[in-house]
Amino acid sequence: MSSKVNLLNFTRADMEVFFAEMGEKAFRANQVIQWMHQYGVDNFDAMTNLSKSLRAKLEDVAEIRTPEVLIDQASVDGTHKWLLKLDSGNSIETVFIPEKNRGTLCISSQVGCALECSFCSTGQQGFNRNLTVAEIIGQVWVANKALGWDPMANGKRERIISNVVFMGMGEPLLNFDCTVKTIEILVDDFAYGLSKRRVTVSTSGVVPALLRLKEVSDVALALSLHAPNDELRDVLVPINKKYPLDKVLGACKDYISGDTRRKVTIEYVMLEGVNDSVAHARQLVKVLKDVPSKVNLIPFNPFPKTQYKRSSDEAIVRFRDVLIKGGLITLTRRTRGDDIDAACGQLVGIVMDKTKRGLNVDNS
Ligand code: SAH
Ligand code: SF4
Repeated sequence: MSSKVNLLNFTRADMEVFFAEMGEKAFRANQVIQWMHQYGVDNFDAMTNLSKSLRAKLEDVAEIRTPEVLIDQASVDGTHKWLLKLDSGNSIETVFIPEKNRGTLCISSQVGCALECSFCSTGQQGFNRNLTVAEIIGQVWVANKALGWDPMANGKRERIISNVVFMGMGEPLLNFDCTVKTIEILVDDFAYGLSKRRVTVSTSGVVPALLRLKEVSDVALALSLHAPNDELRDVLVPINKKYPLDKVLGACKDYISGDTRRKVTIEYVMLEGVNDSVAHARQLVKVLKDVPSKVNLIPFNPFPKTQYKRSSDEAIVRFRDVLIKGGLITLTRRTRGDDIDAACGQLVGIVMDKTKRGLNVDNS
């Protein structure tokens, strides 16, 4: 392990403290953050607006260590997936999904997940550890680089990654501090400068952490609901036993309160014969009646040895129609990157082989 401090872990405020301790001016933080995040620089020599002596000083005590790309895969539909190597044999996945007017990067916040949702391959893998800020923001750094982002191209800062969602592996609210710091870097104008509406934290409903998040951040929120009643949600999303529907929906309402334009994205995975009936849809309309929301129906992405099946297209349309008639804004998410296993809940691949737990994924 290197004893140098990895500057990729720092928000701009952290960086200011770091420079103050070195006896340097605070604006150095702006410069270094800009070099790292806007210009994709990972060595001090390239930072030409720092004096040679400062660069040498930094070289002695600090480093910019980004995650190492093990595998870089592109799907026929333009979706991109990276397998990133962490220490001690751990790896994580990051997915880029290009659409007409935006490019969304789906990032991981933990290696594995402790919450054991029964339809999620990450949940079946178990929890390994939290990612550091460097490992979370490093996914954005690596993706920008691999996608060939050039901040000065055509004289304007066109972004390739316009949106970032915490919908990869792990529960971001159980890695709270690092998630909040990563958000800070994403929205910082000296770093990625994304608007808060373009950064989404997705949670299965860790209520106390959600209430804390409201105190420190106002990025967009997605709730993995997946069931319209406690009995079923207890099975699909076991953390529901601790924080049942009324508590979690109350916390979501609280999170967006104060701005009538905000809505919570409700994620609902479509599982054949489990949560996809017309009765479930009607129940969902009732449950969401007072929650400013838009619903995303996600066709289930199967993984080896799962007990679940994806709902038929007809069942999804029938379900969607009930929601729309009930007054809910509803979208059905297209499955992307199927050929490279980059879809929601499939972010596991080779990681599984390494941990030798549970599933045995065959990527051939
Ligand atoms: N832990 C957070 C964020 C990561 S999961 C959360 O649960 O919200 C990101 C999204 O992928 C969640 O909505 C999750 O429910 C969904 N998902 C998990 N497994 C899936 C699968 N096999 N098919 C489709 N969506 C899945
Ligand atoms: Fe964890 Fe989210 Fe998967 Fe549930 S759906 S096991 S919270 S990653």
